[in-house]
Amino acid sequence: KLFGGFRKTSDRLGENLTGLLGGGKAALDAATLDEIEEALIASDLGPATAGRIRARLDGELFEKGLDERTLREIVAQEIEKVLAPVAKPLEIEAFPRPQVILVIGVNGSGKTTTIAKLAHMLQEQDYAVMLVAGDTFRAAAIGQLTVWADRIGVPIISGKEGGDAAGLVFEGVKQGTEKGIDVLIVDTAGRLQNKTGLMDELAKIRRVLGRLNPAAPHDVLLVLDATTGQNALSQIEIFKETAGVTGLIMTKLDGTARGGVLVAAAERYGMPVHAIGLGESIDDLKPFDPAEVARAIAG
Ligand code: GDP
Repeated sequence: KLFGGFRKTSDRLGENLTGLLGGGKAALDAATLDEIEEALIASDLGPATAGRIRARLDGELFEKGLDERTLREIVAQEIEKVLAPVAKPLEIEAFPRPQVILVIGVNGSGKTTTIAKLAHMLQEQDYAVMLVAGDTFRAAAIGQLTVWADRIGVPIISGKEGGDAAGLVFEGVKQGTEKGIDVLIVDTAGRLQNKTGLMDELAKIRRVLGRLNPAAPHDVLLVLDATTGQNALSQIEIFKETAGVTGLIMTKLDGTARGGVLVAAAERYGMPVHAIGLGESIDDLKPFDPAEVARAIAG
């Protein structure tokens, strides 16, 4: 399933590399090394990783020439080295309860779906989960999250469109505490076009949470759409400090040739990646296994 998920990404990497080795085994002259490096960058893997793969190829003696299989093997190994340090499953602490997870991301990134998938994943680990429909700017987001909550059988706190998100969060923590909820997952607005408003609102949510519990929010997850490629990187740039992001979830890795951006993000920001989205259904949020993902990308 995972390998199928990254197929478009590995196909494109293959297309970019094909021909560079002359169809068979090629000796690695500087021009070929340049071409390989460019092909890796064109596959969204990021300049640092591409440079390291080049250096490694340069450093190894391929006297008999390099075939595509060996090249892919080296690419997989180097990708795994980049991904391994950031692969961290979401950890739910025992105290205090409820643990609060804020989920942020621009509209269309897959935020709503990811919240539902995450709730489902935690439910399967026997956590009592509750949702807060804090994206109060979009009636559709409230509606969609409610549909998911009903479908998977988790309680949800929601209000009217245009309502006060921080107030909902307050209510969520209060009810969560009363009901013995383990994890409260809070949706937030994703209007990047009104950045100041968005950041003010997040700050307000944080203030309310901080008053209830100085350790909250325990996680601030940024949901990124892999199909946007390099744009996903600029979103990390925008949100990482202003929103205090603690970890990433990258979605839509199944439908894109730009999955290499996961490697570029890991390389550049070193932020924990908690899970990856590989489809539209509730079971399509997968734990992030760096070895498996590296193989899937390298093909
Ligand atoms: P939001 O606006 O950020 O809340 O985004 P949604 O959760 O509504 O998702 C936008 C679209 O992306 C929906 O059609 C989802 O089904 C789809 N989607 C979300 N995650 C994934 C994923 O991992 N893979 C695929 N193929 N589609 C996804």
